[in-house]
Amino acid sequence: MGRYTGPVCRLCRAEGMKLFLKGTRCFTEKCAVERREYAPGMHGQNRRSKTSDFGLQLREKQKVKRIYGIMEKQFRFYFQRASSAVGATGSQLLKILERRLDNTVFRSGLASSRAQARQLVRHGHVVVNKRKINTPNYQVNAGDVIKLSLDEPLTKRVAENRESVKDKAASDWLTVDDKGLTVTVKRLPERSDIQFPIQEQLIVELYSK
Ligand code: SF4
Repeated sequence: MGRYTGPVCRLCRAEGMKLFLKGTRCFTEKCAVERREYAPGMHGQNRRSKTSDFGLQLREKQKVKRIYGIMEKQFRFYFQRASSAVGATGSQLLKILERRLDNTVFRSGLASSRAQARQLVRHGHVVVNKRKINTPNYQVNAGDVIKLSLDEPLTKRVAENRESVKDKAASDWLTVDDKGLTVTVKRLPERSDIQFPIQEQLIVELYSK
């Protein structure tokens, strides 16, 4: 599955808000959104914001895709799954995204960004229920036990990450045992667990055209 590999701060500036894609740097004055509050590119400072319904819907979809690091094809697939699930499609979509393994590792505070969490998964450092899983899109279930299998330098780095982001990680649905680098999924995430401002209804309207 492909992924965006360009400069991530540009994505935040294009959305006009902090998407927290770069870990601890996002909480410092080095954040690009704080230093340059205008869209990227040559005409960024003159660009007028889109106000049409379609423009708003499109921006909301792009924003969510960027937050979770998902490409269009997979995002559409998640939307289809959400549409066939019981309950409001928008909430279901966000819940599916939250249940991704890379997001779960990030939410636990063991990685400082979803990109770093994805790398831990891809490089085979994540074991779920005693089975190594290297697919970031794996959907976690209630009761899953996720363990990080790391060498000494990485263990130190993960402990430092956890220390710096644990207050910011919203993870009421997870229990983290810092010493053993183990995360237990207490329950499945609810819409209310996602604090970031997202208007999922706009995405539903966009795909329902
Ligand atoms: Fe976005 Fe973080 Fe870059 Fe700020 S530092 S622009 S929040 S990725």
